[in-house]
Amino acid sequence: MMGYRVPLEEQLLALNVSAGIEELASAKCFADATSDTVASIVEGIGVFAANEFAPLNRVGDTEGAKLINGDVRLPTGYAGSYASLVEQGWNSIAGPKEFAGQGLPSCLTVCVLENLGAANVGFALLPMLTVGAVEAIEKHGSQKQKDTYLTKLVSGEWSGTMNLTEPQAGSDVGALRTVAVPISDGPHTGSYRIKGSKIFISWGDHDLAENIIHLVLARTSGAPTGSKGISLFIAPKYLVGENGLIGARNDIRAVALEHKLGLHTSPTCVMSFGEEGDCIGELVGTENGGLKAMFTMMNSARLNVGSQGVQVAEAALQRAAIFAQERIQSPRGGATDRTPVPIIEHPDVRRMLLRMRSLTEGARALVYHTAGQVDRATLNDPAARIRADLLVPLAKAWATDIGCEVASLGVQVHGGMGFVEETGAAQHYRDARIFPIYEGTNGIQAIDFVMRKVAGDSGAALQALMNEIIENSNGEPMLTDLAGECIRVGEWLVGSASPDDRLAGATPFLAMCSIAVAGWQLLRQARVAVQGGGVIARTKPVTARFFINVIVAEAIAHSAASKIGSAILYSLSTEELVS
Ligand SMILES: Cc1cc2nc3c(=O)[nH]c(=O)nc-3n(C[C@H](O)[C@H](O)[C@H](O)COP(=O)(O)OP(=O)(O)OC[C@H]3O[C@@H](n4cnc5c(N)ncnc54)[C@H](O)[C@@H]3O)c2cc1C
Repeated sequence: MMGYRVPLEEQLLALNVSAGIEELASAKCFADATSDTVASIVEGIGVFAANEFAPLNRVGDTEGAKLINGDVRLPTGYAGSYASLVEQGWNSIAGPKEFAGQGLPSCLTVCVLENLGAANVGFALLPMLTVGAVEAIEKHGSQKQKDTYLTKLVSGEWSGTMNLTEPQAGSDVGALRTVAVPISDGPHTGSYRIKGSKIFISWGDHDLAENIIHLVLARTSGAPTGSKGISLFIAPKYLVGENGLIGARNDIRAVALEHKLGLHTSPTCVMSFGEEGDCIGELVGTENGGLKAMFTMMNSARLNVGSQGVQVAEAALQRAAIFAQERIQSPRGGATDRTPVPIIEHPDVRRMLLRMRSLTEGARALVYHTAGQVDRATLNDPAARIRADLLVPLAKAWATDIGCEVASLGVQVHGGMGFVEETGAAQHYRDARIFPIYEGTNGIQAIDFVMRKVAGDSGAALQALMNEIIENSNGEPMLTDLAGECIRVGEWLVGSASPDDRLAGATPFLAMCSIAVAGWQLLRQARVAVQGGGVIARTKPVTARFFINVIVAEAIAHSAASKIGSAILYSLSTEELVS
């Protein structure tokens, strides 16, 4: 079994340079994020992840979660590890202090989740969902709801879920049909009876936490159609009494588990609400205001799903690097010494490893930079809010695509052994494939980016970002070219392009903008790394150089695809397209 080696220096560099955690700590509310605290958190969570989460990764994949007599069970060892996570306070890093959280910047939660997920990505999804539930209740819940639920969610004693998807309502969340009917008499007056079913609910049931707090989107009677008529409810697995103690079981059941390509540790549940008895739910915020509240949770989740791309990429990279040093094949091409060498000596294997590494570091840089902007936005910095909104879809979509590419290269480095399960390379590839799909598919992220974030202010936020990159790229011609090209394509998109033309080019445009930001952040990291000494002073300039000369160079070519326009997509009829 391969252990997990914590990329400590990498994470500290990303936190310091790309998230700007020192500057964040100068704000009163983040004053506890001193450099000593940050270093001890990064070091501590790495050790925890390596010792507690990594050893369970394999059994999670092979045995997975099981539905037994209506309850979901995890393999042996998971309950103990989760209890340690809660006990050691890893769940509460960015939780609000008034609910026993540590009140630290959320970029540190990103780092905590990165370590947990690189060690065991399906397991790390559990605390990740809880973090999102905390944010949604903190921002949109009533004082009573906060008092009832937050302390236990912040600690992780209770876990959170997100219930949006129904068979007919996937990307089109507004098509959901689960209903909520107000209760006007009895002990639950003021609450709602929820009835319906949801599919694909991650960690919808499990035996690791005392209670599960489901955040459920449903529709009240007479609500407007579509997303304007959606309300958000808290529906706990066990009802919680006035005294804060767990009471009767609510009628919420996992009725089936999906059989999936990967992520086997994470139970993906078909959930039934109020089909056999009463499912009591509390309204969060106002009726029909659900989507806004859910967006809080989804924004946090989108950034953290982007981090999942980094997590699997890091794990795949580490595994491939070990294999490439052990597997002996053929002498070096053109060498006089005909002794077979470890494959890591062959140029093409080095190319793959360096590509994996610079993509992983680039994705990490983008994710941490975005997290830093999200933290600044919470300090009532309107410019940071705009920047964060612009960056979140990039972090989600590009970093998850990178997770897949790096995991695929990891299989390739292993040769045939990558395709068989025993090396573990195949698991990374299987696990990574969901990240571009859930939390809004990457296609939907690209639409959000182009139609709302770019076109919403006629390209102003994008232009400001790209100009900042040009001004700070130290005359790196390739990066300046790419940022300039992003501005030009952006102008075309918000100018003469029709809505269909914008949609046709959204995905490649998102990729080129993401690569510009990642390249910029890697250059900034390299400048700092060379001053600090150590191994990273040697490695970072090389990975940054590879990124600029190869990945940025490739991205300039995305310009043509971004401006392809929709005419070609519709020049074949549907019948011809599928003929
Ligand atoms: C393992 C797993 C875990 C999940 N966890 C959760 C969870 O915890 N909670 C939850 O609520 N959901 C969860 N989901 C559901 C997930 O969020 C959805 O699968 C996802 O949002 C996509 O919806 P869909 O599957 O219906 O695909 P569809 O919406 O049918 O999309 C199919 C394809 O069409 C594209 N498409 C759709 N509409 C458009 C459009 N307007 N323009 C352009 N392209 C479009 C999509 O990009 C995609 O490529 C999970 C799913 C899986 C597989």
